[in-house]
Amino acid sequence: LTERLTGSFGFFKGKKELTETNIEEGLKAVRQALLEADVHFKLAKEFAERVKDRALGEKRLQGVDASDQFVHAVHAELVELMGPEDATLEMAKVGPTIILMAGLQGAGKTTTCAKLAKHLRERHGKRPMLVAADVKRPAAVEQLRVLGKAIGIPVFHEEGVTPPVVCERGVAAAKAQGCDVVILDTAGRLHIDDALMDEVAEIARVTSPHNQVLVVDAMTGQDAIESAKAFHARLTLTGVILTKMDGDARGGAAVSLKEITGAPILFLGAGEKVDDLDPFIADRMAGRILGMGDVVGLVETASQRIDEDEAQAAYEKMIMGSFTLEDMLGMLRMVRKMGPMKKVLGMMPGMGNAAKDLDIDDKQMNRLEALFTSMTRRERLEPEILDMSRRRRIARGSGQELGAVNELLKRFKDMRKMMKQLNKMGLGSMMGGKGK
Ligand code: GDP
Ligand code: MG
Repeated sequence: LTERLTGSFGFFKGKKELTETNIEEGLKAVRQALLEADVHFKLAKEFAERVKDRALGEKRLQGVDASDQFVHAVHAELVELMGPEDATLEMAKVGPTIILMAGLQGAGKTTTCAKLAKHLRERHGKRPMLVAADVKRPAAVEQLRVLGKAIGIPVFHEEGVTPPVVCERGVAAAKAQGCDVVILDTAGRLHIDDALMDEVAEIARVTSPHNQVLVVDAMTGQDAIESAKAFHARLTLTGVILTKMDGDARGGAAVSLKEITGAPILFLGAGEKVDDLDPFIADRMAGRILGMGDVVGLVETASQRIDEDEAQAAYEKMIMGSFTLEDMLGMLRMVRKMGPMKKVLGMMPGMGNAAKDLDIDDKQMNRLEALFTSMTRRERLEPEILDMSRRRRIARGSGQELGAVNELLKRFKDMRKMMKQLNKMGLGSMMGGKGK
């Protein structure tokens, strides 16, 4: 590991001492590595300052060369920022321990509930119960039931009552059945909205959970940060679980999450299976973030942000014919940013009535987006790899039929074909030159 880090900071080679001047280059690399790992620029800047103080403060160490000293300082600061290492779930002294799981749809809540239940039973000898409180999507309840059955953990659900009531009754049922841990799987939304926040805050109010855990998808970069802010505003978060760390996520979110929520990262999700839950080790994460800094291109990070640059980039890509599902998702999100279709149309003269019938369209958009978020980033970038088993997994993950996945892929292919054709006809250049 150290070798890898030293490699990234090779410019210190042979230099015996860190100075105000030669440290600048190193700090620049650190800032860059953090930015590439999706860390907010302000935090990256402050962090670099702290590294500087520490590294220069330790200047008098004997027999250690500049590069080692620098890497050591960076690593130590990262660990400090992401620690403490021994963060654990809080266990109730009397009655069952209640764990509320919150997060956006697709973050991995339901999967993580099952992982956590299994972990607590196997490692801590607990008797957990799962509560399905995502009542909006029948598939969500079924998903938890299937998972619970597979690992032999009871799943509580009740039809026809609100999520806070389901949770209250779940806790009562756990007591009655002698379960000592209750894990509440709440509903997510694709985007932060007041209804979602009200619901989850109400669940927290009526159940007084000992743990309020935020589940965040590490692959979503800045979106992960935004959702953390929103949930932090409404809940008293006690811990974070970062999922999908098995993908190509750089984990920079880990750095910002602690800062934003004030809550430690407890576990990492490292795959789709129920055993893929790892304890969070700040030291290891620091290595991952630093080691990858020089590998991942800045271009990629920039193109993840939904702004004008991305619109332009997606557009140019379309014209070039290298249009991917990731671009299609980007476009979908840009459209959604304008607000629910209904509202947008409702504002147009003469469209008020038509807007009434448009609820369905927003729902369709939700379903569509759920398909995208159930894919890995790699799948979105390389749609060619979407074989039958991957498609089935996506269908399951999004709570939809396989047909919906196929339909989306068909639409994607049509779109790509259209782009290519436009390009051939020379319309590309005609439509281009937007702004630039
Ligand atoms: P929820 O909407 O927050 O309940 O999310 P789900 O638990 O339904 O997960 C959404 C998708 O992410 C599913 O396809 C899961 O299999 C997948 N998923 C969840 N956690 C992980 C993880 O740690 N790694 C990977 N690769 N996939 C995950
Ligand atoms: Mg779920």
